[in-house]
Amino acid sequence: MVYLDNNATTAVNQNIVDYITDLLTNKFANASALYPAGIESKRIIENSRLQIKSMLKADFKDDIVFTSCASESNNAVFSSVTRCFPEKKHIIVSAVEHLSVLNTVNYYQANGYDVSYIKVDSDGNIDIEQFKREIRADTLLVSIMLANNETGVIFPIKELVNVLRTYNSEAFFHTDAVQAIGKIPVDVSDLGVDFMSISGHKFHAPKGIGALFVKNGIDFCPFIMGGHQEHGLRAGTENIAYIGALGMASLAVPQMLREYKKREKMRDWMEKCISELGDVEIIGTAVKRLPNTSNISAKNISGDSLMFELANKGFMVATGSACNSSCSEPSHVLKAMGIPEEFLNSIRVSLSEKTTANDLKQFIECYSKLIKKRR
Ligand code: PLP
Repeated sequence: MVYLDNNATTAVNQNIVDYITDLLTNKFANASALYPAGIESKRIIENSRLQIKSMLKADFKDDIVFTSCASESNNAVFSSVTRCFPEKKHIIVSAVEHLSVLNTVNYYQANGYDVSYIKVDSDGNIDIEQFKREIRADTLLVSIMLANNETGVIFPIKELVNVLRTYNSEAFFHTDAVQAIGKIPVDVSDLGVDFMSISGHKFHAPKGIGALFVKNGIDFCPFIMGGHQEHGLRAGTENIAYIGALGMASLAVPQMLREYKKREKMRDWMEKCISELGDVEIIGTAVKRLPNTSNISAKNISGDSLMFELANKGFMVATGSACNSSCSEPSHVLKAMGIPEEFLNSIRVSLSEKTTANDLKQFIECYSKLIKKRR
């Protein structure tokens, strides 16, 4: 089996599995308890918080809130800013956000908010001029992802933050950085964002743990209300084992970054081989992309059926985003990019930092055979 669906999720590293087992077995005391075992649980959580801050290059005074996933982190941002600043009614997002942002903003749109969707061009570039035009005095929040899950296209977040601050110094900037962690350097202080969402299962921690970066000094209304956990920013008894796992996964990020640099060359070589088949489009190659992602479209050949045939031969790839794969609608990302109808049916190949040249060689052979058979 060759697993090439790492933007959907990654395998949990064995050292993390071992650490989780140890924490579940030996460190189960409630972190709110005041006896030594409780204080030890609390120490594990705070240590992980420091590790995440260090991974993101956050300031010591900034906050990291542990959540159940990045979908919750994204929802929490919308919920917080709309409740803390109810007088402002305008939100800006890109047209290619993950559904955890798009469906959330749809909800606010249906409940009295004006929403501006920033367009992208056929290469995936965001329309900065449109962004400038859309900023208003009552703009409350901008939510634009750092890297797209389907194409790997990286957005110029620092530039967008600077534009926002020039036209409206009070609006908040949130970035969904889920796909960027471990693949490209992420420096939250340099980017200048107010909020950032991350998800553990995209960098070898388990599913069910995420985090939200909240810049120091920002008012935050908790999405989950209740007890005083997470400095009062997210109620619920803390998942010590998974919070610990997230911290441990962050320690491997510098090594992941080095490995992904090498994988980028392998990915480019794979794309070159596949392009030579003719009538194949690799989406987003003209702009900055994640080093691990290829969105490959063969003219008039169904991505769904290719995905199933590849799976039968032992290769796991995705069509569109994983969250979209249960519906056969063309991807909203490719549609927003204006990709022609005959190329809308793509597959997404996403490498891990451990993918080998031999994995890709086998994939190229299998993919090429399937395409030739169809023509
Ligand atoms: N944002 C992006 C860009 C994603 O790719 C994903 C998952 O695929 C999410 C958010 C949701 O993450 P989670 O599964 O942790 O809710």
